Amino acid sequence: MRVPAEIIADEDLIRGMDEKVRQQITNVACLPGIVRAAYAMPDAHWGYGFPIGGVAAFDPDQGGVISAGGVGFDISCGVRMLATDLTAAQIRSKQQDFAHEMSRSIPAGVGSQGHIHLDDAGMSAMLSGGARWAVAEGYGTVEDLARIEEQGQMAGATPDMVSARAKRRQRDEMGTLGSGNHYLEVQEVTDIFDEAAALAYGLSPGQAVVTIHCGSRGLGHQIGTEYLREMALAAPGYGIALPDRELACAPIDSELGQRYLGVMRAGINCALANRQILTHLARDVLERFFPGCKAPLLYDVSHNTCKEELHEIDGEERRLFVHRKGATRSFGPGMGDLPPPLSKVGQPVLIGGSMGTESWVLAGDDRSETVALSSACHGAGRAMSRHQAARTWTGSGIRKDLAARGIIVTSPSRRGIAEEAPGAYKDVTRVVESAERAGLARRVARLAPLVCVKG
Ligand code: 5GP
Ligand code: MN
Ligand code: MN
Repeated sequence: MRVPAEIIADEDLIRGMDEKVRQQITNVACLPGIVRAAYAMPDAHWGYGFPIGGVAAFDPDQGGVISAGGVGFDISCGVRMLATDLTAAQIRSKQQDFAHEMSRSIPAGVGSQGHIHLDDAGMSAMLSGGARWAVAEGYGTVEDLARIEEQGQMAGATPDMVSARAKRRQRDEMGTLGSGNHYLEVQEVTDIFDEAAALAYGLSPGQAVVTIHCGSRGLGHQIGTEYLREMALAAPGYGIALPDRELACAPIDSELGQRYLGVMRAGINCALANRQILTHLARDVLERFFPGCKAPLLYDVSHNTCKEELHEIDGEERRLFVHRKGATRSFGPGMGDLPPPLSKVGQPVLIGGSMGTESWVLAGDDRSETVALSSACHGAGRAMSRHQAARTWTGSGIRKDLAARGIIVTSPSRRGIAEEAPGAYKDVTRVVESAERAGLARRVARLAPLVCVKG
């Protein structure tokens, strides 16, 4: 190992983690040019190569690498939250119809298609423009952009280098949710833990919020597939001995590393544009049910990325490439490019729990810079494989149970619901408390689900 491997979690969570997480985070700590440590967040679980919930930063001046497996297949998968001016009671008064209409308006499921069909020029514009492109096309507002990482547009994307196949897969998939773990959820703010941060975020008890979780769809998956293969083949040529083939990577400064970087950034823009279009679709439904209501964007965070950032390492500011896979950036107060109201209290860190449990809004903590390069967890994390979950529960059973608790779940896939059963995930509150104790992020608000449109 070149640096320590650190699992940041309480004892019970660590004990509950798959042995594979320990193995994988140890392997990451062996990669060339890694600085400080390889980190696993409290929600970590086994992933492809890197664990999900893994954070690792590499220095290009020390032979540092970039890894497609360290970003993940769903490039820039992430979460955004709309802080509406509606109450949960208003949603409840029309809950059934509202859930039905939302599920009709949000294309979901494997290979689902949207209303937008991109030609080559449109695809290029989208891949370099991200959410900025989407706003220019009429989806959402200019005000949204300040509330998105990178102001809605990842610089340095190279759409020309994205394969024809990846583009083809995405042509009809803009503005779609995807499958399984992805969701659009309407939630109630039930508890506030930090009054000042909640005020800055525009959150208060009884309020309804809309959370959207999805990523770069077929395009991101295709890019991930292509570059994992290419990096695994090329690694020996770069003199990189991989502790695990799944850790496929290339030196940041190499032709392959640079090519992946540009293409991955195009994938980030695809995800930002996708969530922006879904936001527009969701606002449309809100407007039909509650004319004149407002649903401004609180924030949009990605949790599958590699970003170039400055961090102080051993008293020296260094330019690093920070992989966060199933991990959220967690800038503390005053850090990064946060707009004024957010900058005062730190970056919103949006944490999904499950369709049947609470979810959380946290705020970036400045201690996180020393603890884990300003990163935090991204969810509860799986406690059980999809396969095992599908054997344990049925989709219709879960739906019925949740309906009895006032939660409406819609999905094109019954098996999908079983795979995503609340019991298949860890206890999100425990994960979040653990993150707070470690200084990764502070608890701001707890949310309860009302309507979940599942992929
Ligand atoms: P991932 O990006 O790793 O697929 O998922 C992120 C997190 O979202 C999971 O760790 C899980 O805690 C949470 N999650 C998965 N499905 C749902 C859902 O339907 N609703 C909510 N609120 N959270 C979910
Ligand atoms: Mn995803
Ligand atoms: Mn995700």
